[in-house]
Amino acid sequence: MTNKDLADLIFPNITLTIEDLEKKYPKRDLKEGAMVTRFAPSPTGFLHTGSLFTSLVSYRFAKQSGGVFYIRLEDTDTKREIEGSGAELVKQLNVFGVTPDEGYISDTEEKGSYGPYKQSNRALIYNTVIKHLIEIGRAYPCFATPEELVKLREEQTARKEIPGYYGKYAIYRDYPIDEAYARIKNGDSYIIRFKSMGDHNNKVSFHDEIRGDLELTENDQDIVILKGDGLPTYHFAHLCDDHFMHTTVVTRGEEWLPSLPIHLELFDTLGFERPRYAHFPVIMKVDNGVRRKLSKRKDNEAAVEFFLKSGYPKYGFIEYLLTIANSNYEQWRDENKDKSYNDFMLSFDKMSLDGALFDLEKVESISKDRMAYRKASVLADEVLEWANQYEPEFAAKISANKEFFTSILNIEREKENPRKDYAKYSDIYPIISFMYNDVYDSLDKTNPDLSVKVGKKDQKNVPANVVVEFLNKYLESYNVDVTEEEWFENMKKIAEGMKFTSDRKEYKDNPDSYYGQVGDAAGFIRIALAGRKNTPNIYFVQKILGKDEVARRINETIAILSK
Ligand code: GLU
Repeated sequence: MTNKDLADLIFPNITLTIEDLEKKYPKRDLKEGAMVTRFAPSPTGFLHTGSLFTSLVSYRFAKQSGGVFYIRLEDTDTKREIEGSGAELVKQLNVFGVTPDEGYISDTEEKGSYGPYKQSNRALIYNTVIKHLIEIGRAYPCFATPEELVKLREEQTARKEIPGYYGKYAIYRDYPIDEAYARIKNGDSYIIRFKSMGDHNNKVSFHDEIRGDLELTENDQDIVILKGDGLPTYHFAHLCDDHFMHTTVVTRGEEWLPSLPIHLELFDTLGFERPRYAHFPVIMKVDNGVRRKLSKRKDNEAAVEFFLKSGYPKYGFIEYLLTIANSNYEQWRDENKDKSYNDFMLSFDKMSLDGALFDLEKVESISKDRMAYRKASVLADEVLEWANQYEPEFAAKISANKEFFTSILNIEREKENPRKDYAKYSDIYPIISFMYNDVYDSLDKTNPDLSVKVGKKDQKNVPANVVVEFLNKYLESYNVDVTEEEWFENMKKIAEGMKFTSDRKEYKDNPDSYYGQVGDAAGFIRIALAGRKNTPNIYFVQKILGKDEVARRINETIAILSK
């Protein structure tokens, strides 16, 4: 009885050889230096911020080198699988412009000629390779029961030896072929293990694209390559897939670094060329002064959906991720304000080695900055798209009069130093809702807050009749068909005629001679029009509301104050 007999018994239907597979999946015809990268998610839930980071960066490396980026669904862990999450991940990546050239799209759809791109559909390939490994004596069936394995581990712990299934502890590696054959025929359950030739006293050298030259302990574990359910393990599957799909650089999280020696031994054993590897930093966060991994369970910001729902603009978020990807991104951005982030050339050597730190404040400030430079009409479309999904009431307001909404967004925008008021789409409505008459009308005007705010500034009570007089005078000479400066000058004159000063020092020296400063008087207009102290530039607000609406709101305030 030979290894070949055993292999035929285990895989009676496999007639393909590795050479056949090599022919079926020929080397890709790409220009020198073009990278083939991939994103290989497991369908176990929502898109994690770390996964978006990894996939975005992998995608950019492929694109900037004229290569190929593909998606492969790693669904061999059926226990952890959440139905439908694979297709959902692909959709969310699309939102961020991470669109694969080929690969898995959904459980019924894929594109590209290196598929199938879903591991559970690749049994033929895995089995062909495993059959070959059995034939050459580098893989074998293992009949160990869970109890046997537990016993093994206890023995190793007691002897203070390295735990695992290796060397003399690999109880079935030298099991007689005849016996294995008989047991399989008999229907005994088994799994397939790789037979390692490594020694943990040896080192294996490797060059990681990000971490440089590494010396790692050689693998000596006879790892499982085919599980009892007939599906391969990650270690083995990724090797077959990255080989036959011709990945040039395997980009993945640094949590895979410890198992790299296993992968290297597998590649070498099969005579497959080792791909390059880049192990990305894990995204960390500071929690109570302690650095820890961003956690699916504890942190909102671990889920990409959180950013989408809050309405962070995707271009802001992408740029944030690029700042954590490459230390020189921000400087490049400063020097290339007009360019798209797609023009930035990512490099492995500018990637941080120890966990990248997630910083929500920075996401905010980058988003604020990028949103400020959007054209109003473009931003209006973005906001509407977002509101349609997450805030229908706001969406209805926008749709009812898009032009009106756009003009509000355009306040102090499309100029050299635009205002940076909004970090996310959800910031907008609370700031501008007063512009809508129904919202303004529904403000509680009897609320003492309104009159208190109108009459009070810096703890100093401006008598209501003074505010009324000011607002009346302002309305009498109301004119915003002039420049902002002229409008301000006119308003200032009225205020100065009523014991409001524009001289800060004078006010400081003689506070009792004045009700306040000119800015305080302008504040009355603001509160009358918006019911709040913070609004976009009030000159433009008035232009947009129109003279009649301004008069209506100011008169209403006057009436309240006159009661
Ligand atoms: N399925 C693996 C994971 O989700 C992929 C690792 C890799 O990219 O090779 O972590």
